[in-house]
Amino acid sequence: LIQLFRPLDMLGFVYRSIRQGLVDMGAMFKLMDTAVEVKDRPDAPALVVHRPHITFDHVVFGYESDRTILKGLSFEVAAGSHVAIVGPSGAGKSTIARLLFRFYDPQAGRILIDGQDIAGVTQESLRAAIGIVPQDSVLFNDTIGYNIAYGSSAATEADAINAARDAAILPFIEQLPQGFETEVGERGLKLSGGEKQRVAIARTLVKNPPILLLDEATSALDSRTEQDILATLRRVSRNRTTIAIAHRLSTIADADRILVLDQGKLAEAGRHSELLARGGLYAEMWTRQAAEREQEADAAE
Ligand code: ADP
Ligand code: MG
Repeated sequence: LIQLFRPLDMLGFVYRSIRQGLVDMGAMFKLMDTAVEVKDRPDAPALVVHRPHITFDHVVFGYESDRTILKGLSFEVAAGSHVAIVGPSGAGKSTIARLLFRFYDPQAGRILIDGQDIAGVTQESLRAAIGIVPQDSVLFNDTIGYNIAYGSSAATEADAINAARDAAILPFIEQLPQGFETEVGERGLKLSGGEKQRVAIARTLVKNPPILLLDEATSALDSRTEQDILATLRRVSRNRTTIAIAHRLSTIADADRILVLDQGKLAEAGRHSELLARGGLYAEMWTRQAAEREQEADAAE
């Protein structure tokens, strides 16, 4: 099913690797010219997960030795709960996602899933447990069906149809003359940003991971499309341990717990109402974004 060696631009390759958790991460690091080598221990067991609980335990990490990005970060994500990570640009939010996916190992501290240190399990089993929806999903020049089933070699046609339905993209696909066989991408049908994100969500659902990692999954969309996609994500994240990294606070106000990251440290944590009442960084960001929303609404009139 998977033809790895068709000509692809490197960015596409990298994105796909990130989303699909391809086993061949070594090749990706080479492409990205990254010195870091994350290797499985020879006797590493597979990660065992059901409804995963995630723990960051005093995690210290920097990409370069002279600059620490995460400075002893600790937090917990309860099984099946929905945790949002917010904070200024450059605070280290995406770094958390990269560490959870084990693109890098922390320099100190541990990351645990159901009590298992992710540095001690196979990367394949770890990445099979995590579905990532990034900000800009990249599709390849192939059919919609291929794009949805990609990365799940055991996926049946019924799986792809169910995933498309759950991602609310099935009616769109069914009205196309060639349905799932429609070619998409640069040489085929151009999908809108929202449609692309739905295909990416469907691909994640075929994988059926117990952990969902959304890294600004809707921030490239207009606000109407964003609302539609958020409703879909809310539905599909039910019963999955979900970490949602967000720029727009209005998109995560209903999270079970919001972590406010500032310069690699946890500045605040709590529910939306608690953080507003606290009058700290979150409240400040919320007020600023509310003012920006009003300005945009005025400008649109
Ligand atoms: P956020 O997602 O919160 O905006 P990131 O986690 O992407 O922030 O980045 C945190 C910091 O790490 C930033 O200062 C960024 O420039 C730096 N950084 C990110 N990726 C790399 C990398 N591959 N090499 C060196 N520095 C990086
Ligand atoms: Mg980021």
